[in-house]
Amino acid sequence: MAMSPVERKAAQRARQAAAGATKIELVLDAQEVTMLAQNCAARRPGREPYDLSEYITLLIRKDNAELQQLIAELGKRNCGRCGDQLPVQDCPCKGEAACWVNGGWHEVKLKIDTPRPVAANQT
Ligand SMILES: [Zn+2]
Repeated sequence: MAMSPVERKAAQRARQAAAGATKIELVLDAQEVTMLAQNCAARRPGREPYDLSEYITLLIRKDNAELQQLIAELGKRNCGRCGDQLPVQDCPCKGEAACWVNGGWHEVKLKIDTPRPVAANQT
């Protein structure tokens, strides 16, 4: 059975206590606050919206999972110049364009791209 908002909050607090939670101050502009509140509701249609902190912590976990997967994928490739396994953090040949260190960060950086909605009723 789905947890009630009170139960979810209690479970979140229990997880936080068990994990040695750290409180951080987060400064958001008005647009970000609006987006956050809207998305907390939009991602739970017909249900109690995510709590703001819960939403942000889930984003961190989602990003971490995606990043670990991306790094694992990169690890199957090697720098075209020095041959080191990607992602290369530093390299003696980083002055050369062919070294992954020069442009590779573009593959890892946070990018804002809009997912395309799945086309409906395509036959
Ligand atoms: Zn290199």
